[in-house]
Amino acid sequence: MTVTRAAVPALAARAVSVGASPVREILALTARPEVISFAGGLPAPELFDAAGIGEAYARVLAEQPRKVLQYSTTEGDPALRGAVAARLSGRGLPTEPDGLLVTGGSQQGLALIATALLEPGDVVLVENPTYLAALQCFGFTGARVVPVPTDADGVVPEALEEIARRERPKLLYLVPNFQNPTGRTLPLARRRAVAEAAARHGLWIAEDDPYGDLRFEGERQPWIAGLDAAADRAILLGSFSKIMAPGMRLGWLRAPAALLRACVIAKQAADLHTSTVDQAAAARYLADNDLDAHLERVRTAYRDRRDALLAGLPAALPTGSSWNRPEGGMFVWVRLPDGYDATALLRTAVSHDVAYVPGLPFFAADAEPAALRMSFTTHTPDEIAEGLVRLARAFG
Ligand code: PMP
Repeated sequence: MTVTRAAVPALAARAVSVGASPVREILALTARPEVISFAGGLPAPELFDAAGIGEAYARVLAEQPRKVLQYSTTEGDPALRGAVAARLSGRGLPTEPDGLLVTGGSQQGLALIATALLEPGDVVLVENPTYLAALQCFGFTGARVVPVPTDADGVVPEALEEIARRERPKLLYLVPNFQNPTGRTLPLARRRAVAEAAARHGLWIAEDDPYGDLRFEGERQPWIAGLDAAADRAILLGSFSKIMAPGMRLGWLRAPAALLRACVIAKQAADLHTSTVDQAAAARYLADNDLDAHLERVRTAYRDRRDALLAGLPAALPTGSSWNRPEGGMFVWVRLPDGYDATALLRTAVSHDVAYVPGLPFFAADAEPAALRMSFTTHTPDEIAEGLVRLARAFG
């Protein structure tokens, strides 16, 4: 008998149009143990409170196994939502537990917003450069991503105003604290300007803040979601990845009621709910431990590592390079002199057992070939100094 095979069905256009994750390729570079990598965007694993987190899992499994191993509600663990709401309210952003949805990390928050808000052809404004997995996420919806120019303080309000008028966007995506990839923080006056521009032009703001708790110095800036002009149009995305552990895949989404409901339904369709046991363990951890004391240890270590990176950069980079001094977070943004190609030089760097991320994939348009991102979190100051010696050799 001859079997005739019908053609294999084609992939959806959206699956073809969005490229492979550059994040994956970047992480692959860091796998060789001898490489001192400034490429990853990972928190320092030796700073995870493994004992405290382990104890929290043991307790919830011992005390309430039938509950924490069962299906649960899409909105999320009431105790965890309560703890997050109290944390946000305590920092000047009044929040009810019912105003929050627990997500599988802020990455899922992005996907839920995209599902709930974006139609093919809708315009999404992004900082240029921006978090590249957000670019992918918006790309999947068929939305048109339009970059807004930035300077050392982040998105430029005058440019935003002009582009919003021209493009009639639906959504503006921002990482206002210690941005990925640039480490920049948006000052209060610009936060106000962004909120007012959004109100004037009728667009949503997605404020993605996984790094805000990692401030080493300077004044904490208020969330855009807490400014009057943005109250009914801002979505705040938070994450436990950088303050507890990314492997738990826990985050939260705070949004006005109607949008929150739409995100709950989108999440129901995606995964029913975030892991019951992981949420219960996180809530237990927050009840039994002092997260802020833990964060103080993390911030102190990261500040030392940032300082080691900044101290070594002048000798490591070609004359004429420039970089910023972030007040927190995980990243420094470097510009090599004009004419340098950070992507081409990465191969040489890796052959000297040191790595960074070229800036190119973070740009939605008008990419700067000489830009690169360096993360300072996962190596000790001594390793950072050695990594910079290798970088100097690679660039020399
Ligand atoms: N947003 C930004 C700006 C990020 O840098 C990251 C992770 N590096 C995420 C979202 C995703 O984080 P999560 O682990 O919470 O999904």
